[in-house]
Amino acid sequence: MDNCIFCKIVAKQIPASVLYEDDDLLAFKDINPAAPVHFLIIPKKHLASLADAKPEDAVLLGKMLELAPKLAAEHGCAYVEDADGNKSGGFKTVVNTGPNGGQVVYHLHMHVLGGAKL
Ligand code: 5GP
Ligand code: ZN
Repeated sequence: MDNCIFCKIVAKQIPASVLYEDDDLLAFKDINPAAPVHFLIIPKKHLASLADAKPEDAVLLGKMLELAPKLAAEHGCAYVEDADGNKSGGFKTVVNTGPNGGQVVYHLHMHVLGGAKL
């Protein structure tokens, strides 16, 4: 999509601190972090928002959700439950949709935030 900043990051036309890349997804650090760990997972395919996802995008959405805990763990935000049932760590996932959802960039992205109690 012309003039989409995240499509330009996918196309390497503007730089980003990339944490993960495969054929379908890209993950990179948020330029204005709201937590000690804050990165975005996006589909390489341009989808303006979660509300624009179609049934055929279900696998792509599932891949985004599946990647979040893996990358969060790699960046020190693993969710752990020990043998006694004590829970620690973890992270927050957020998908802002539309003006009332606080969406600013209209290319679907999942925020992953961690490293502190949020
Ligand atoms: P939204 O409010 O749309 O869910 O969040 C958009 C996010 O994208 C914001 O947290 C903002 O800091 C981040 N962002 C906007 N432009 C850029 C950019 O050019 N590079 C990176 N890495 N993040 C960006
Ligand atoms: Zn885009």
